[in-house]
Amino acid sequence: MPIQKKTYEPDKETDRAKNIKGEIIYIDDAESGRKGYSCIGCDKPMQANIQRKNPTHQSYFSHIPVDVSKGEKKCTYSNREQREIIASDILQRIKRIKVPDVVKYPPKGIDKNPVKLKHSQFIDAFKVRSELTFYEDEEGNIHYGKNPEINDRYLLLRPDVTFFNHNGDPILFIELVVTHKISDEKKIKLRRLGINTISIIVPRGSDQEIEENFRSVKNVKWEYNEVEASTTYLSVSNRATEGILEFDKQQRGIFGETTLCRKSRINNTIRTIKKCLGGKSYHRTEQDFRREIFRIKEATEREEKKLAELESEYQKEIRAEYAGGNLDIENQGREVDSKEESLQLGLATKNW
Ligand SMILES: [Zn+2]
Repeated sequence: MPIQKKTYEPDKETDRAKNIKGEIIYIDDAESGRKGYSCIGCDKPMQANIQRKNPTHQSYFSHIPVDVSKGEKKCTYSNREQREIIASDILQRIKRIKVPDVVKYPPKGIDKNPVKLKHSQFIDAFKVRSELTFYEDEEGNIHYGKNPEINDRYLLLRPDVTFFNHNGDPILFIELVVTHKISDEKKIKLRRLGINTISIIVPRGSDQEIEENFRSVKNVKWEYNEVEASTTYLSVSNRATEGILEFDKQQRGIFGETTLCRKSRINNTIRTIKKCLGGKSYHRTEQDFRREIFRIKEATEREEKKLAELESEYQKEIRAEYAGGNLDIENQGREVDSKEESLQLGLATKNW
């Protein structure tokens, strides 16, 4: 399952451009007209179109029409891509983001209230990295790296931003998205990774507005949360709910497990068990056991042999000690036997 490469729709109308000094500015900070602005994507001149008369219409930069017949290339600049670059840079700097409440929704078809498992909170990172690739090796161990050469079938996810704690462990994946919709394939991968993941729609706005967005959970959803995933609704449904929780249909949909997800999870568990059984650690344990059993068998045999030797030694000793006495007893025994014989013979004759 290859990682889906992000594709950005090019925008004719843009909200950012370079000024005459080459600095990237937001449309709100621009002056109307051709004031030496140029495109971030293609460096071609742009003009600012400020909507003063109609404030409900958004202002924008546009390319100064070019002569396509001269073989000029079409611009591929994307507002969204630019916003995501800015968002990623801000997160690298502030190392902090607010995540929403973790809520457990009842399974489909059950008309009950959702239950809050965890309050909305700020997550602080010790280190922030962008566009790392997470993949697994043939043994099923998860690794990550920057642009590693990996066979597609081992690829898991390339989150836009990853938060690490001070132990160097990834603690939060941040996905910058256009929509919170999530495919079953991705749900499966997120469960496989087991790392808390949020998706954010970076809104249109100035750099300051984008930064402020990270202090609010308005545009944030959980794509995967470990606490939510490891809690069953039934086990929490008796807990008193804190007021009336907002029933977030979208969030419920993301957390919902489809048959495909369940099937894959079960397959994964089976695969892990098989891997465990066939893995080195199992073999090593098995060998250790075999060695131990062999060692005990050998020791037992040795002890049995020793015991047999001791027994025969004692028997010899006893025999030697009572050798003379035995001879007497044997002789006396024989005497008794012959007397008994003659007596029986006598009795038999008498009866005739
Ligand atoms: Zn351009």
